[in-house]
Amino acid sequence: MVDTLILLGPPGSGKGTQAALLRDELGFELLSTGALLRAAREAGTETGRRAAAFMDRGDLVPDDVVATVVEHAIAELAGRRVILDGFPRTVAQARSLDGALGERRVDAVVLIDVPDEEVVRRIADRRQGRSDDTAETARARLRVYHRETEPLAAHYGERGLLRRVDGAGAPDSVAAEIRTAIA
Ligand code: AMP
Repeated sequence: MVDTLILLGPPGSGKGTQAALLRDELGFELLSTGALLRAAREAGTETGRRAAAFMDRGDLVPDDVVATVVEHAIAELAGRRVILDGFPRTVAQARSLDGALGERRVDAVVLIDVPDEEVVRRIADRRQGRSDDTAETARARLRVYHRETEPLAAHYGERGLLRRVDGAGAPDSVAAEIRTAIA
């Protein structure tokens, strides 16, 4: 049984959408570092203030800032099935995640594959009012993804945890693929 699931994929690959579908269908709790950081910004906390400029540039927020929100959220989700959306984003974060999980283990990592051109097109179309949803930051976030986050595929592949799904289809068919991948 998969109790601790990581969703990986480029910005605009539909991780947030898929996480919400899996929550509704399979009863997972969601832990989205992007959502937690946006909430911290809106609340005007110290963490939110430290994160803001990095987010607006499409850069990664420093690990120690992210670690603060993650540790707190993981502790609150003890004993529940959890999807990590947007975390870890670096190999260093993956290592610190193992420590933060304690007795828990990562059970599966699903990488939602979407080609770069499609990512840029989707983000340009998205414009949900997020301050980081511009064509320029989309390209910056994509570069950061390839440089910092994509190496996690090899990291988790070596541990036998990685499953790839094609993210090009409609949300429901991607969700069906993910359910099969973690069944
Ligand atoms: P997301 O909603 O996952 O696309 O995240 C939006 C922005 O929040 C990213 O572009 C980063 O600036 C920041 N962020 C979210 N999660 C992380 C993370 N695990 N490490 C560093 N920065 C993050």
